[in-house]
Parts: sequence; C-alpha cells; structure tokens
Amino acid sequence: MLLQRGILCALLLTLCSACTHGAAPVGRGKLVVATTISTLASLAQMVSGDRLDVVNLVPIGSSPEDYQPTPQNVARLRTARVLIENGAGLETWISHLVEGARNPLLHIVVCADGLPVKNGNPHLWMDPILARQYVRKIEIGLEQIDPSGRFFYRANLRRAVAQLARLDRSVRRKIETIPPPNRTMIVFHNAWQYYNDRYGIRTVGAIELSPGQEPSPRYLANLITLARQYRVRAIFAEPEYSPKLAQMLAENAGIQTVTNLYDDSLGNDPRIRDYVGLITYDTDIIVGALK
Ligand SMILES: [Zn+2]
Repeated sequence: MLLQRGILCALLLTLCSACTHGAAPVGRGKLVVATTISTLASLAQMVSGDRLDVVNLVPIGSSPEDYQPTPQNVARLRTARVLIENGAGLETWISHLVEGARNPLLHIVVCADGLPVKNGNPHLWMDPILARQYVRKIEIGLEQIDPSGRFFYRANLRRAVAQLARLDRSVRRKIETIPPPNRTMIVFHNAWQYYNDRYGIRTVGAIELSPGQEPSPRYLANLITLARQYRVRAIFAEPEYSPKLAQMLAENAGIQTVTNLYDDSLGNDPRIRDYVGLITYDTDIIVGALK
C-alpha cells in the first residue's frame, strides 16, 4: 500500500513538473498566442517559452502603421486564445480583424494601456524599461488563458525582467561612449522617441510625421536647417521604407544616411531575430554613426 502510494506520488510529481516546466497541458495541442508585430512576438516568446504557439500577424519587414490585413490573419485569430497588441494607435486595423474573426474565446492584451504615451507615439517597446511592463502584462494574459502554466510563466517573466534590465545597462554604457554634443538623431519615422528619451539622445526631427504622409518641401528645408544647427551626424531610417527622402535630406545637409535600423519589425539577419538582439544591434549602429 505504502509502495503504491509512493509510486502515485512520484507519478503526480512528474505530471506536475511537466505542467509547470513548459510542456503543453496533457490532452490537447498547444494554445495559440497571436501577436500583431514581430517585436511583440519576441517579447511574448520570452514569457511563453515552448509551452504555447506564438503566431505573428504583420510579416517581418512590413510596417504595422499602414498594414493591410489578410484573410490568413482572420484565420489565425480564429484559432488564437490570446491576442497581444501594442495599442496607442499603432494597429488601426486590429478591431476590424478581431470582429471578422468572431472568436468568443479570444483574450486581448493591450501592452501600452496605462503606460505614459507621449504625443500619441505608440513605440513604447523601444525603451527596454517600458518593455519590462510589456512582459509583465503578457504574463498576466497568459496566466488567464492557461492558469496551470502560471509557475512556468512566472519563472520566465523573472528571467525576462532580469534580461531586460541587463539590456538597459548595456545600452546605457554604450550610449555614454558617444560625446554628448553628438547625441542627436534625425529619423525617418519616429520610433525612437522613448529610446532616445531614456538614453539622453535628442530627436531633432522626423521625416515622416504621420504614416504614409509625404513631408512638404518647406518641412524638409526646415529639417535641413535643424540638422545643420544641431550638427546632426546622421539620418536614420529602416529598411522597410524607401531610402530616397532620407538620402536626399542627408545629401542636402551634408551628413550620412543610416538605413538599417530595426524597430517595428525584427529582421531576417540572425542578430535581429529577437527583441534583445534588435535593441543591441540598433544601439551598435547608432553608436557607430554618432561617435
Ligand atoms: Zn512604427
């Protein structure tokens, strides 16, 4: 009898540790987590580990601001149990997509809700300190759809928070090597406000004020004046946008163009396939251009 009880206990312990150490709950496939952009998918994966399937809606290399959802996106949302979106006006197309999916089981996590949004700018995740708030919210969302995985998610959250704190310290140390007068940027689209505010870089201007809107010649002339006034060393853009305007502005201001920053989207390069890699890569590019 005692032996049988011992075997039962050992069996329960094994099952229990399988539940809390990442295996999918017994008797069904993995639950699906949908994310709107690939940078959020990476933050979600830090918490979900392999226990859940993270599927992303906006493909790598596409811009979420002017994204056109596809029927495949609707199908993905139909099977998902949780949707992780940024909010703060980034994904203007998402409510239409959610309505189309008609999925009563879908739990929605809006990462930027309750965080300090500046000037309607949705790119809060670019600040690793704010990204810690994102992973905390994601963890709460995952517990809600999969309570038996809570210890696994909480352990992953602790690791993610520590990793993001290390990332913050590393970025800070690197930016400190840039001479203070050089800490200025002109950007193509202003994904850099929160990052720049955190690390003491002045955003002198952005070429594109709102998604898809071409700047007027007068606005561009003003940016060239500002670039000279602040002795801006480079104009920064992302590969998903045409480099023409940034190059034209840089030529007129007599400075260099950097066209390989990543922010809304991860990249296919192995160095930028996750959030920590992306921030590290961008920081090295920025430091290299401003030093
Ligand atoms: Zn953006």
